Amino acid sequence: MTHSRPTLLCLSGHDPGGGAGVQADIETAVALGVHALTVVTALTVQDSSDVREVEPVPADLIARQLDVMLADFRIDAVKLGLLGGAGQLAVIRAALDRLRVPVVLDPVLRAGGGSDLVAADFPAALLRELAPAVTVMTPNAAEARRLGGAEAVLAAGAEHVLVTGGDEPGERVVNVHHRRGAPPQRHEWPRLPGPFHGAGCTLASAVAAKLARGLAVEAALTEAQAWTHASLARGFAPGRGRPIPGRFA
Ligand code: PLP
Repeated sequence: MTHSRPTLLCLSGHDPGGGAGVQADIETAVALGVHALTVVTALTVQDSSDVREVEPVPADLIARQLDVMLADFRIDAVKLGLLGGAGQLAVIRAALDRLRVPVVLDPVLRAGGGSDLVAADFPAALLRELAPAVTVMTPNAAEARRLGGAEAVLAAGAEHVLVTGGDEPGERVVNVHHRRGAPPQRHEWPRLPGPFHGAGCTLASAVAAKLARGLAVEAALTEAQAWTHASLARGFAPGRGRPIPGRFA
């Protein structure tokens, strides 16, 4: 008997500590009943406090991986996380244009520990080359400002923007869903004791997994936030630095 299950293609960096990046994608997908296909965009040197180095995977190697995967696997949605620089954007865009499935982009620009993860001209290149193919972008408040604000992201072509407020002060975390032609919608959550490592990756992967399962964007955003909040409430600290989400009950 053949069983089928939805698949999610993830292009993300590798975090050896397992809190963020590809491992966050795989754990989230599995927890939500989705099979993860993973193309690694960058290796990193990091501990549970901060990222020290980002080593990009060559763009032509990513292109060759995508070529054989697109010819073989059914792909229901795509999640894009940390990318290894502007040189990877064209091959990724070409794959998205071939696939035409929902795409979630987590624009990872800076690590929670404070290190910059991309070059100064990367945010503009990301908007120009990938935003028109994006269904949902999930910047945190600082990343949204660096991209010119939620309106600029929508103007660049993204259909939906969820600006997360975990990095902003306040007793409650306020995430705001922006889309063209409708008023922004607030989602509020009690603030859990953090700061966490891998929360943003986990939320973006959860949104993408929900879209892979066929949910509409509104429902995907709501269910993914609730699941991520529950994962953070189960958070644990495998190292000396920040806790990571507990993605399995
Ligand atoms: N490492 C990788 C591979 C990531 O994808 C990210 C964020 O997306 C980070 C590190 C930083 O995660 P955080 O900002 O949650 O510490």
